Amino acid sequence: MTTFDLSGRVAVVTGGNGGIGLGMAQGLAAAGAAVVLAARNAEKGEMAVASLTASSAKSGFIAFDVADEGSCRAMIEETVGRLGRLDILVNNAGTSIRKPPEAYTAAEWHTVLDTNLTGALFCSQAAYPAMKQAGAGKIINIGSMYSIFGTSYGAAYAASKGALVQLTKSLAVAWAKDNIQVNAVLPGWIDTELTQGARRHVAELHDRVLARTPAGRWGVPEDLAGIAVFLAASASDFVTGAAIPVDGGYSSMGV
Ligand code: NDP
Repeated sequence: MTTFDLSGRVAVVTGGNGGIGLGMAQGLAAAGAAVVLAARNAEKGEMAVASLTASSAKSGFIAFDVADEGSCRAMIEETVGRLGRLDILVNNAGTSIRKPPEAYTAAEWHTVLDTNLTGALFCSQAAYPAMKQAGAGKIINIGSMYSIFGTSYGAAYAASKGALVQLTKSLAVAWAKDNIQVNAVLPGWIDTELTQGARRHVAELHDRVLARTPAGRWGVPEDLAGIAVFLAASASDFVTGAAIPVDGGYSSMGV
């Protein structure tokens, strides 16, 4: 039995037009899945689709805004309409607004929470009927080291990522009866547009991450491909409600 084979499966990766999302999408596509990349920037999206290998003929891009409930539902409906099914949902779209907690406006707070947390719920709700009807499903939520640790310059981000783990556990418990597994991945520091912005904003971040990461390097998006395939495949059918660090040992490191 090939438990890591995703042939015939359909996956949606939100925020899949670059960074970690694309790294995971490339892993899913190489394992045989047709992958829909969903995000706002269509130009980046079409380039990302072209970079998918094995299953690229069926893969595609759908423009959507994860912070908009109707857009989440329409994107999932379009996926099922185009490809006939939905087996795997990766809730990866995310954003951050870096400032001290006392400086957040209500609008900034809601932008981060709506994007990182509430959108994951809307996409999961929209995916649920197709997965339930198929008798199986896999949902993978992308948390962060800030699902575990606090940060003085990202209270909204840390609040959203901590809550995403609790949402993961709650969906896992609720939908286990439908054979839908829901897990979270907690990436360490990965070199993407998001962290390039953070490095410009926070002096010394690059060196601090290197010193704090036992593996002695920043991660790259491809480091997330293996865990995505595992959590999307039948190999993980008895794994649900877990929050798995992929961090080069960052969260295991004491002083
Ligand atoms: P990127 O900035 O490269 O990716 C973010 C993605 O989210 C983009 O594809 C972006 O596409 C999409 N996105 C943002 N806002 C929206 C929106 N409103 N609607 C739809 N899509 C949206 O950063 P990363 O790859 O680093 O981040 C991916 C995920 O990984 C995020 O959830 C992030 O929090 C998480 N993460 C990243 C870590 C890192 O070290 N890089 C560490 C831990 C977690 P577009 O702008 O086209 O909409």
